[in-house]
Amino acid sequence: LTHHHRVFYQDHFRAGGKVPLGLKSKGQRIVVTGGAGFVGSHLVDRLIARGDSVIVVDNFFTGQKENVMHHFGNPRFELIRHDVVEPLLLEVDQIYHLACPASPVHYKFNPVKTIMTNVVGTLNMLGLAKRVGARFLLTSTSEVYGDPLQHPQVETYWGNVNPIGVRSCYDEGKRTAETLTMDYHRGAGVEARIARIFNTYGPRMCIDDGRVVSNFVAQALRKEPLTVYGDGQQTRSFQYVSDLVEGLMRLMEGEHVGPFNLGNPGEFTMIELAQVVQETIDPNAKIEFRPNTEDDPHKRKPDITKAKDLLGWEPKVSLRQGLPQMVSDFRQRIFGDQKEDSA
Ligand code: NAD
Ligand code: UDP
Ligand code: UDP
Repeated sequence: LTHHHRVFYQDHFRAGGKVPLGLKSKGQRIVVTGGAGFVGSHLVDRLIARGDSVIVVDNFFTGQKENVMHHFGNPRFELIRHDVVEPLLLEVDQIYHLACPASPVHYKFNPVKTIMTNVVGTLNMLGLAKRVGARFLLTSTSEVYGDPLQHPQVETYWGNVNPIGVRSCYDEGKRTAETLTMDYHRGAGVEARIARIFNTYGPRMCIDDGRVVSNFVAQALRKEPLTVYGDGQQTRSFQYVSDLVEGLMRLMEGEHVGPFNLGNPGEFTMIELAQVVQETIDPNAKIEFRPNTEDDPHKRKPDITKAKDLLGWEPKVSLRQGLPQMVSDFRQRIFGDQKEDSA
């Protein structure tokens, strides 16, 4: 697209044009920070398929080139090794800001770095959005609700977060990132969008990232016992990655700032999740109990009324439908090409 076309589409869009239902490309230049990670790489696939030009900015802390390698050689794709804690100069139309480790094991590894990424990294990307007039989407998290005293969680709930705990670098980091986003929106007129993402799973998750779905799937495939932490009665609500990507794109293209919960309301205890994994992979997989981690939220389930009403979005893929897709990806990466005989 020529510059003229781009300006035309942008103006048309900013003039309040309706959200194109198919989320059609306007041939935009889009930055995805954290685009070599699990969620980011799936988002990049959709944006490239739509016809956009995508710049991935990633420091490869938890992301991998393998996740985006299939776009190498495409002139509409660019990969920059860069840490968002450092300033960055680019000319773009939209910024999807995902850069931040998401697994507790990863974000606790260097908690100060996690805070810096959430605070200084988000500040830099907001500074960039302000300078070039780009629209900015923050991927926040259900963790802003902490160990919630309201169930399910609605966006108006302010949360119950320990400010000095081992998860605080992430929870409080994301809360500050939301604050910064709203301050740049109100104070500098940055077009902002905030998504609060609930537990998401799917192909390309790091195999050993310590999250519960990746752990259980890898363990069942390797014929190891499934490690349930605590009594296994704590709950989570698991969303398949394609549903999340659809929600993020609708949010970006829509007219509402948010915050919006993006998650699948299907709620499972960790014991129930282990049973679904047994059904899907190996009915004989054993379950082993381990001590739970500190400050583990007891339950979590999104109220998605707001996203349904204002974005016309709701998840389509249930856990039992989504899990097999992740399992075949994990099988391939764990066993390579060697033929793996069935359980
Ligand atoms: P991920 O760890 O797979 O991806 C994060 C990406 O960010 C990686 O590619 C990593 O290398 C990159 N990154 C980390 N720190 C960086 C830095 N300082 N500079 C540049 N790049 C950096 O995690 P994910 O599951 O894909 O999560 C993506 C985003 O979604 C994160 O912001 C996370 O907080 C949010 N989120 C995810 C979930 C989930 O269940 N997956 C839930 C809630 C929120
Ligand atoms: N920033 C950036 N890229 C830009 C513009 C700004 O990385 O294109 C960074 C800048 O280095 C600063 C932060 O974003 O640390 C906030 O920028 P802003 O202009 O809002 O604040 P100021 O620089 O005036 O303190
Ligand atoms: N969990 C578990 N076994 C594992 C890993 C995690 O039972 O091998 C539990 C963990 O204690 C928590 C839930 O699963 O209650 C979700 O943990 P995860 O790290 O996946 O995500 P988050 O805590 O960020 O929601």
